[in-house]
Amino acid sequence: MLEQELIVAVRAVRAACGVCRKVQSALVSADTLEKKDKSPVTVADFASQAVICKQLGEHFQDDPVVGEEGADDLRADGSEEIREGVRIVVSQSIGDEASEAAVLSWIDRGTFDPAEAEEKERKRYWTLDPIDGTKGFLRKEHYAVALALIEDGEVVLGVLGCPKMRVGRQQGAIFTAVRGQGAKTLLIDSDDMVGEPITVASRQEVEKARFCESVESGHSNQSDSAEIAKKLGITKEPYRIDSQCKYAAIGKGSASIYLRLPTRKDYEEKIWDHAAGMIVVEEAGGTVTDVAGQPLDFSLGRTLRANKGVVATNGNFHDTVIAAVKDVLGV
Ligand code: AMP
Ligand code: MG
Repeated sequence: MLEQELIVAVRAVRAACGVCRKVQSALVSADTLEKKDKSPVTVADFASQAVICKQLGEHFQDDPVVGEEGADDLRADGSEEIREGVRIVVSQSIGDEASEAAVLSWIDRGTFDPAEAEEKERKRYWTLDPIDGTKGFLRKEHYAVALALIEDGEVVLGVLGCPKMRVGRQQGAIFTAVRGQGAKTLLIDSDDMVGEPITVASRQEVEKARFCESVESGHSNQSDSAEIAKKLGITKEPYRIDSQCKYAAIGKGSASIYLRLPTRKDYEEKIWDHAAGMIVVEEAGGTVTDVAGQPLDFSLGRTLRANKGVVATNGNFHDTVIAAVKDVLGV
């Protein structure tokens, strides 16, 4: 089941990770433009989305993509240089000269909104964060390329590229999961599709757990997490790491709790920020819910509007963690 989807998704994420690495190593501030929401977007965001959407379009022509980026930001006056940068990087990655129009159209494949689509179009779509953790990427730290497949509102496959994470001695890990088939880790720099199975930590005592959270205090409330940790008797310092690498850390057992706590009441988490990571943790044996202990609902459009925040654990003390979260947040 989903064998072909997994092969194509891994190949696409490997290519996108190559693009991101190349741009990250050459990063200068001119490669950054400001989106309306002030978050930095780089040549690599757009190029990564273009490379992945191109491959998905070739193999699964009818599948829409819910991507973080759209090409309108690139078409805007003043972004000519970045637009050309994206075209060049994409051409290098695909090994062929791509036209500007083609690159923009690949990026625009990612503008699908399930909430506005007909029911039959909503049955199956991909969701993509071409660079999750852009701020980490710009700091030359961790980031992720996150791709997932959603069928009937359920995440059924996830591929998470983490170019700065290590597998043994090698840098550059991919984490994959298919519903009911477990989670695995593969190397970015390889053609191997077999990989190694991963499982969450078997730890039973919550007070000895390590928890991870965002580096950015604007993305997760760090004073609430400190209070929750204290309540649970956790004394280890939080493991702060950008992007869905946090889910990967839980899936491979390097940490046992991921807390993503609302910083404002009106924020709706985006599906591309969680789909791939969530299925990796679940298939590695862990549990993922919102701060109230409810399952994440991926069937409502581009955001998780029925949920607030995210809590992921190795599954052994999820209820205990949720009780402490509810207590501190008053939910
Ligand atoms: P992280 O790497 O954990 O800091 O998460 C990065 C993601 O946080 C980005 O992809 C954004 O979509 C998302 N984000 C932006 N603003 C917020 C916010 N106020 N609360 C939660 N997540 C946010
Ligand atoms: Mg993101």
